[in-house]
Amino acid sequence: MNDNKRLRIAIQKSGRLSKESMKLLKGCGVKFNIDERRLIAHSDNMPIDLLRVRDDDIPGLVMDGVVDLGILGENVLEEEQLERQSTGKPCTFDKLRQLDFGSCRLSIAMPQEFEYSDSSSLEGLRIASSYPNLLNRFLAAKQVSYLDCMLKGSVEVAPRSGLADGICDLVSTGATLEANGLVESEVIFRSKACMIQSPIAQADDKQALIDKILSRINGVIRAKESKYILLHAPTDKLEQIVALLPGAENPTVLPLNDDSNRVAVHAVSTEDLFWDTMEQLTELGASSILVMPIEKMLG
Ligand code: ATP
Ligand code: MG
Repeated sequence: MNDNKRLRIAIQKSGRLSKESMKLLKGCGVKFNIDERRLIAHSDNMPIDLLRVRDDDIPGLVMDGVVDLGILGENVLEEEQLERQSTGKPCTFDKLRQLDFGSCRLSIAMPQEFEYSDSSSLEGLRIASSYPNLLNRFLAAKQVSYLDCMLKGSVEVAPRSGLADGICDLVSTGATLEANGLVESEVIFRSKACMIQSPIAQADDKQALIDKILSRINGVIRAKESKYILLHAPTDKLEQIVALLPGAENPTVLPLNDDSNRVAVHAVSTEDLFWDTMEQLTELGASSILVMPIEKMLG
């Protein structure tokens, strides 16, 4: 049982996930005063402490029960899990949910001039990576033997510097690979940020706070994925119009003053409305179409 009264959440101190992680917690109503020089930040309005650390340290802190929750990339989580499994360290955690940021993929990339056909082309070559366990799992399953080159940073320059024949690194747009004369040849893992919880049993009030944060996160993400739509529709086209709005099966339909042939429709739709949908709506006779962002959703 974790007795510490305050909920401890680990997030990346500075890097690709830090801004979005902070934004998500702020969206859940957790207020913080961050002092850049300090590792820990206390929330002013909830019993929550934020630990700002390197992303590589987050899975271990959660699995060892040092913190209660962590926000990190699934790539880092999976790598640490494989590492701990191979060394017999504790590696349990609860994955509370995947988040809607930090999208990337872990890929093998080779110099442009290399002739890649399939993973057997890598036989006997040296591959530089910060993710030795994920790379090993992939190539072992393909029965390809290769040589390791563990690099914690600047992996993309390894082939050009003569340190390795190819790399296995994170990619999002592919611009870094291109700038270094590399071509993505194999995607070995797709990742997003996620929130995980320590396996250590929590006191009831702390677990209740975790459940509340998770429910608010669900609300923040659902709100981002949804739009509030207002429009006027010809009554005889109502069914076809509603069918164009995904997730809006039960819209509010209200009468219009002095107009018995048309109604006002208020609906929450789960997809961004694209221009072509709006055009289809107007073709069906809809007018006064308003599409508005939603800030929060609950229930
Ligand atoms: P730290 O100093 O915390 O160890 P880092 O350099 O290891 O930072 P970042 O580059 O900030 O980490 O990336 C953090 C996470 O962001 C990655 O583990 C991954 O989940 C995600 N990510 C999303 N897109 C990319 C990308 N193009 N390259 C690298 N990471 C990405
Ligand atoms: Mg890191």
